[in-house]
Amino acid sequence: MELDDHAEDLASDLGVDKEEVTSDLQNLVEYSVPVDEAKQSLRRKYGDGASGGSGAPSSKEIGDITPDDGNVTVTGTVLTAGKRSIRYQGSDHVIVEGELADETGTIDYTAWEDFGLSPGDTITAGNAGVREWDGEPELNLGESTSLSFVDESLQLTQEIGGEATLADLQTGDRARVVEVAVLECERRTIDGRDGETEILSGVVGDESGRLPFTNWDPAPEIEDGGPVRIENAYVQEFRGVPEVNVSEFSTVTELDREIEVGADTTTMAVGEAVATGGIYDVELVGNVIAVRDGSGLIQRCPECYRVIQKGQCRTHGDVDGIDDLRVKAILDDGTGTVTVVLDDELTAAVYGGTLEDALEQAREAMDQSVVADTIRERIVGREFSVRGHLSVDEYGANLDAERFGESDDDPQARARAFLEAVEKVAEIDDGADAEEVDA
Ligand SMILES: [Zn+2]
Repeated sequence: MELDDHAEDLASDLGVDKEEVTSDLQNLVEYSVPVDEAKQSLRRKYGDGASGGSGAPSSKEIGDITPDDGNVTVTGTVLTAGKRSIRYQGSDHVIVEGELADETGTIDYTAWEDFGLSPGDTITAGNAGVREWDGEPELNLGESTSLSFVDESLQLTQEIGGEATLADLQTGDRARVVEVAVLECERRTIDGRDGETEILSGVVGDESGRLPFTNWDPAPEIEDGGPVRIENAYVQEFRGVPEVNVSEFSTVTELDREIEVGADTTTMAVGEAVATGGIYDVELVGNVIAVRDGSGLIQRCPECYRVIQKGQCRTHGDVDGIDDLRVKAILDDGTGTVTVVLDDELTAAVYGGTLEDALEQAREAMDQSVVADTIRERIVGREFSVRGHLSVDEYGANLDAERFGESDDDPQARARAFLEAVEKVAEIDDGADAEEVDA
């Protein structure tokens, strides 16, 4: 059944305007609400006698709203309001997302209409839809919501405006304001939803740390190298770590103060690092206990650059592979394990030779696995300090190494740190421990 038919059904059942029902239904489905659930919630909203609800929605404090509320009337102060463009049924819609707060709590909202919301505004939203996202209630402010601005100001403990440090940012955050230095920036051409488009990507930093960013509509202030203030940034996960997204709706201004970028990489126990679910820049110290298959001399697909086996790419079939060097080593510090991935340069360093040397060694042995064997002999059973980007996903915990060196720490200090780490990890839920999964 098409969405349209569902709307037809509902409209005639409930005796309300079909266009209104269609738009509500679209909103809910757009947000991944299953159609049946969406219909039920609309039945509640339009007062279907069968489900018991009718009349005006009840007034609720934010802390009392649950995902089961069909729709509510709520008064709160806008903490953040960030515009974003989404594509729906082939055309672009501008929506506003942010947080609304009162004395009892905070709730995320999405405004489908331009109500002109700004941080600091106190509003009463009549007939606001409630939907569930990730187990939490969220508000939908749409066509059928009556929105009015209120003069009274609430006694809030929450901060208005969305200012954050990079360390504060979490995947899913909207309408954040950060002040950062631009540490790396490159212009790239990508295949966007409207064909080829240019973007900026790189790394930003502040006192609290560093994070990768993508600037979808290149801002000269960022390309010039910053430092910059970015208003209305949102955070999305990319390859297992949070990424700052700067869109056409973000405001980027040059800052006239310098930003001291936190220089120290966080050193963590492996178990503790894995339990965070992914960190952009982290240092781990542990023993290499194994070098996994797919290490040493490998071949990549010339189309997609993924590692191929016996001349076969999973996507492109029979291909003429490109030779490359790589190591996937398992690092263990007693609190957990990660797979450390070394690129061609780091691999050449631990192998003690170039790609040419590796090809030569493989030719002589008539077996390319000898290269991985040589690397195994050199690093397994020894302690290393690794710095890089940790991602944790269904493939396990992987650390993309930027630096890989033999640990030169004072062994006593290491022992102490290790004990502390073990104690800390013992407090963390065991379930977060990464299982070794083949990527
Ligand atoms: Zn391929």
